[in-house]
Amino acid sequence: PNRIINQTNGITPRRWLYSCNPALRGLINDTIGTKWHTDLEQLQDLNAHIDDAGFQEAFRAAKSANKNRMAAWLKDRNGVTLDTSAMFDIQIKRIHEYKRQHMNILETIALWNEIRDNPTADWTPRVKVFGGKAAPGYALAKLIIHLINDVAATINNDPVTRDKLQIVYPENYNVSMAEILIPASDLSEQISTAGKEASGTGNMKLSLNGSPTIGTLDGANVEIRDHVGHDNFFLFGLTAAEADAQRADHGYARRAIEASPRLSRVLGQIAAGVFSGGDRYRYSDILHNLYENDYFLVSCDFDNYFAKQREVDAVYSDVTRWTRMAAANTAGMGWFSSDRTISGYAQDIWNAHSVT
Ligand SMILES: *Cc1c(COP(=O)(O)O)cnc(C)c1O
Repeated sequence: PNRIINQTNGITPRRWLYSCNPALRGLINDTIGTKWHTDLEQLQDLNAHIDDAGFQEAFRAAKSANKNRMAAWLKDRNGVTLDTSAMFDIQIKRIHEYKRQHMNILETIALWNEIRDNPTADWTPRVKVFGGKAAPGYALAKLIIHLINDVAATINNDPVTRDKLQIVYPENYNVSMAEILIPASDLSEQISTAGKEASGTGNMKLSLNGSPTIGTLDGANVEIRDHVGHDNFFLFGLTAAEADAQRADHGYARRAIEASPRLSRVLGQIAAGVFSGGDRYRYSDILHNLYENDYFLVSCDFDNYFAKQREVDAVYSDVTRWTRMAAANTAGMGWFSSDRTISGYAQDIWNAHSVT
């Protein structure tokens, strides 16, 4: 007792705000001064400004500049044109079943279906961005990458939905790419199965840069939500305890799929070869995994995730409310500086004393 302790991870604010986001850096300097460069908790002082119309407009201008910067980078790199007026919805991290990039692409297919069913409704346009590598021997992760790219090829060429939904997967995700994508993000996808993510740091980088999270109660999401305010975080999904209980209930995945017309339709389309030029077998391993061996509970969280995404759509279309949420994320993230983590190690673990 009392010998096993924890220091919550942090991120360096010099790389993940000051250096990568000059537009937001300038606005913060002009609003609260420069002490935050070495004392990130000073960002709390932004809370006094988040309802100010002038500050809000400047905050949106910074985000817009970053989205234009990312769009120019992608145009130059891959020849792809992005709609910068759409929500940039970003999931960037190593590919793993527990991180559930496949749940995100299944939700994207479901959204595509519903836009096609009702193309004149008031949809909130989105650009869905995926980035991340698979480990060399992780066949299912590579198949998930293939699926995302196949779905992108189909959906991006659909004239009915083209101006409302776009998918991009820039290859070779690394820190240099992260420094361009993170400042441009509107929505941070942190959707791992509860109980599986030790911490996460991508979640911290995105929230710090004014990108609210849609996420589960997993890893540091729990503490991020407490620091930025529960109203400024889109929470969904099973808790870790509920996930364990679900796994004990044999046959849960097939039952959840059969109970969800939306998910059944999507899986039926994949099985019919809609995204693989009629090849009905390309994604058999993913489908088999979801029906028979869904340890990461995609089937159980899918409907709640879809519903929460539609709530995100509604809030995003209320520009003032969204800007307030995004700015509250930046203002609330000071505690996640790695300066705090490292001084915690120095004091509580290393018994090392600062020379300054
Ligand atoms: C921060 C970072 C990660 C970690 O991302 P998670 O979402 O926490 O898994 C991985 N790769 C790169 C390049 C990063 O910058």
